[in-house]
Amino acid sequence: MKRIFFLNVIGVFAFCAAGHAQSTEVINKNGYKLTVINQDAGFDKAEIAKLEETFFEVYPKLEKEYNKKVTKNVTFVIDTAYDGVAATANARVVFSSKYMTKHPKDIDVVTHEVMHIVQDYGDSAGPGWLTEGIADYARNKFGVDNAGAHWALPEFKSTQNYDNAYRVTARFLVWTEKNYKAGVVKTFDKQLRDHTFTDDSWKKETGKTLDQLWTAYAANPAI
Ligand SMILES: [Zn+2]
Repeated sequence: MKRIFFLNVIGVFAFCAAGHAQSTEVINKNGYKLTVINQDAGFDKAEIAKLEETFFEVYPKLEKEYNKKVTKNVTFVIDTAYDGVAATANARVVFSSKYMTKHPKDIDVVTHEVMHIVQDYGDSAGPGWLTEGIADYARNKFGVDNAGAHWALPEFKSTQNYDNAYRVTARFLVWTEKNYKAGVVKTFDKQLRDHTFTDDSWKKETGKTLDQLWTAYAANPAI
């Protein structure tokens, strides 16, 4: 069983248990508290600093843009066992130490994941693909170095659909804002958080149903 220690001041704490080291760092800055639990003793310290910097740069912007009531207390875990890229629940982001070691420039994984904290949809009635699309929309708009990670919205392809989630959905949202309703992502984000989002929200906000929008997008997908 893992034990987690918290410090109330800036500092680093390390201990060894069952043959592996875990260190916890707590940073209090500008009213935010970021706790970083590193389970990988060999993880690049400069990369940890970049993860932290990105949090303090991006999170206040996302808070201001989307959800001023979001928590100011966030935990990052650098996890040696996690096999995905990263995952977020309850203001706790788990980063795969393997992935981040292999892809150190993909720093805006932070931006995508902390957007999930800001979203705070709870047991949302909204579709998961839209949640992920909005998180990548936010990464595209607020990311600190998407270019450095060679991360960009992909060109439209006829094999895509709006519910492909992530970047495909994000590009469709950018297009929808440009062609039909500026600010619709903010509106949908709020509706999803308030649990007032429905399938009809597309038509109410843009004048077109989701299927009609996608057909128009496929016909002229330039952004
Ligand atoms: Zn996500």
